[in-house]
Amino acid sequence: MKRISTALSALALGAVTFGALTLAGLGVSPASAQEKATVGIAMPTKSSARWIADGDNMVKVLKERGYNTDLQYAEDDIPNQLSQIENMVTKGAKVLVIASIDGTTLSDVLKQAHAKGIKVIAYDRLIRETPNVDYYATFDNFQVGVLQAQSLLKGLGYPENKGPFNIELFGGSPDDNNAYFFYNGAMSVLQPLIDNGTLKIPSGQTGMDKVSTLRWDGATAQARMDNLLSAYYSDKKLNGVLSPYDGLSIGILSSLKGVGYGSGGMKMPIVTGQDAEVPSVKSILAGEQYSTIFKDTRELAKVTADMVDASLSGKEVVVNDTKTYNNGVKVVPAYLLKPVVVDKSNWEAVLVGSGYYKPGQIN
Ligand code: BGC
Repeated sequence: MKRISTALSALALGAVTFGALTLAGLGVSPASAQEKATVGIAMPTKSSARWIADGDNMVKVLKERGYNTDLQYAEDDIPNQLSQIENMVTKGAKVLVIASIDGTTLSDVLKQAHAKGIKVIAYDRLIRETPNVDYYATFDNFQVGVLQAQSLLKGLGYPENKGPFNIELFGGSPDDNNAYFFYNGAMSVLQPLIDNGTLKIPSGQTGMDKVSTLRWDGATAQARMDNLLSAYYSDKKLNGVLSPYDGLSIGILSSLKGVGYGSGGMKMPIVTGQDAEVPSVKSILAGEQYSTIFKDTRELAKVTADMVDASLSGKEVVVNDTKTYNNGVKVVPAYLLKPVVVDKSNWEAVLVGSGYYKPGQIN
């Protein structure tokens, strides 16, 4: 009996030593490993490179800090995202980090999550119509729109060039709270110039109810641009397009190219964007897309991981905005990062200089 128990404790010891060695090799202390909590990360889609980078960065930062991660992509399918989050709750995640597809569809599952003491962090996109969201990590979304509009004007040569300019407006997905912030930010700059006649919108289509693009879908934007061009531009030229996201800009540009813009003396209109995705940065270098907005997803991952750490250890969560993001039920405390406009003049310094892209990834 004694022999057996000695053998057992030797085995157990062996296991501990083995465990400690293995963990030491990973740079993780056994103590933190025992406490290792799982963080569920729900991302909307892999169809856009930015969300892939977001997911990768979140996993990297959280793993470095000793957490387990459960990363899921829902391919822009709302019921799919809902069941992924339900699974995370069932499997015992301690924190949920969610970039929602439709920010209004998660109330029930988040109620269950909160009942279990799970913390909920809205990642980049605000989760709406629920009290059960604790924090929001994002960029200054209104400022994104301001920068897009300022860049559109710069591309048009305003104020040296007085216009009038013909422009069209595109908005993001109407189920994404950010889309309204981008649009309102842009309109805060453009509206006075629309009012004084510097900017003309030949289609007359303004307001998110008319210009939004469901699910941020590039093909939908392309089809709308096709329609606008054939209905309103048979006798005039388009000078600029406010586009809120690179994936839409690509669709818009291909519609424009389809009717001859960008060749044979027909100047390519100024087209904005967002996310600094590789195809769009290449398009900027090729003189097609005019600009994009860079949002450093590495920084967003860090801010979010800080929120995870602090909320699990009962420390104060650092936020820098406590008034902007009312989700319909409450104002969600937020940390806002700064977006940066990128065009031909600064792409290399901003995107390669910061190490976000490697030299050679773009050109
Ligand atoms: C994000 C943007 C992105 C868009 C489409 C928004 O919620 O803030 O960065 O371009 O979704 O994916």
